[in-house]
Amino acid sequence: MRVLSGMRPTGKLHLGHYFGVIKNWIKLQEQHETFYMVADWHALTTGYKKTEEIPQNTEEMLIDWLTLGIDPQKSVLFQQSKVKEHAELFLIFSMITPKSWLEWNPTYKDTKYNLLKIADLSLMFKGGIRDNLKTFIAKLPYKVEDFERLEDMLLDNLSDALIEALFEGYLDKELLKELNVSKREFYDTDTYGFLGYPVLQAVDILIYKAQGVPVGEDQLPHVELSREIARRFNNLYGDTFPEPQALLTETPRLPGTDGRKMSKSYNNAIYFADSNQEVQRKVMGFFTDPQKLRKGDPGRPEICPVFFYHKLFSPKERIQEVERDCKSGKLGCVDCKRMMLEGLEAFLEPLREKRKEYEKDREKVREILRGGSQRARDIAQQTLQEVREKVKVG
Ligand code: SF4
Repeated sequence: MRVLSGMRPTGKLHLGHYFGVIKNWIKLQEQHETFYMVADWHALTTGYKKTEEIPQNTEEMLIDWLTLGIDPQKSVLFQQSKVKEHAELFLIFSMITPKSWLEWNPTYKDTKYNLLKIADLSLMFKGGIRDNLKTFIAKLPYKVEDFERLEDMLLDNLSDALIEALFEGYLDKELLKELNVSKREFYDTDTYGFLGYPVLQAVDILIYKAQGVPVGEDQLPHVELSREIARRFNNLYGDTFPEPQALLTETPRLPGTDGRKMSKSYNNAIYFADSNQEVQRKVMGFFTDPQKLRKGDPGRPEICPVFFYHKLFSPKERIQEVERDCKSGKLGCVDCKRMMLEGLEAFLEPLREKRKEYEKDREKVREILRGGSQRARDIAQQTLQEVREKVKVG
């Protein structure tokens, strides 16, 4: 079976990426024909204002893929933007995808909710400045032909500028909290590209005629959309695309150092590129059971992120020992963390060495991506040839 998956180039990977995605990718490459994509065009959907880090992030991410065991002999590792055929098929799919299919996307709906809040905010600002604006226009040293239209135009522009000023912190930010409006969701995703990104995802899958797509439960609707787009294309122009199947995979939630889900944005992640001193510092700063204040207090390993890591990285006997001695109070958190660090380091240290080798030979890493992108392009070109013939355009 041909399997496709991808990741946005967010830079160096952390343990959460490994347990959530990469471990499964490694398993899949042993059983299937696997295509793994650096989704750099997707990175633009929410990050179009800050693109300068994308090339570096791409490289760092690829170094981690290779370090962790994604094998370019077994998998095609490629960069989405190096296969321009994605853009052409995206255009064609955009023509045949009803807008309503995209508007149910939960991410998009959340954004729309924010847009309603923004509309409230805009009305409020307009109400606040209307009278002053009238006075201002009346005092202009120019002849005004259409007072009302000028007033409307200035109101629109000024309220937008005030919303921006609010987000940038020039006005009292408490208002944002009251209205439950998020700057990121409004400004970063109120775009045509964001509405259409599930169509681009369908392209990523169908252009390679992939039959399997590993996804977590929350991504199931996107695979369903790809199936619907494939069906619609096939109905309109003749059988071309197989309907891909979702390969439902568990994505275990790995806690970060503060107990929340490990994430770059929470600043709670342990990276494969971290030195052992950095990892030690992070481990010693781990949150633990808040009721266990000192050695002697009984603890609750079942809610402690340190124990979660023991279960992943410590030998079986040690896990049992930690559980027992935490509950009885015999074990203190500092010692417990040191013990956990041993297991974690035994996992990380060989990877750290391997990563350094790739870091020294970045040209080899780039060559792997170039070669993979060429292999992907060969297939994408064949699909596009077929598509152009069927659609009779291009
Ligand atoms: S002893 Fe270990 S498992 Fe128990 S609360 Fe402290 S860090 Fe967590």
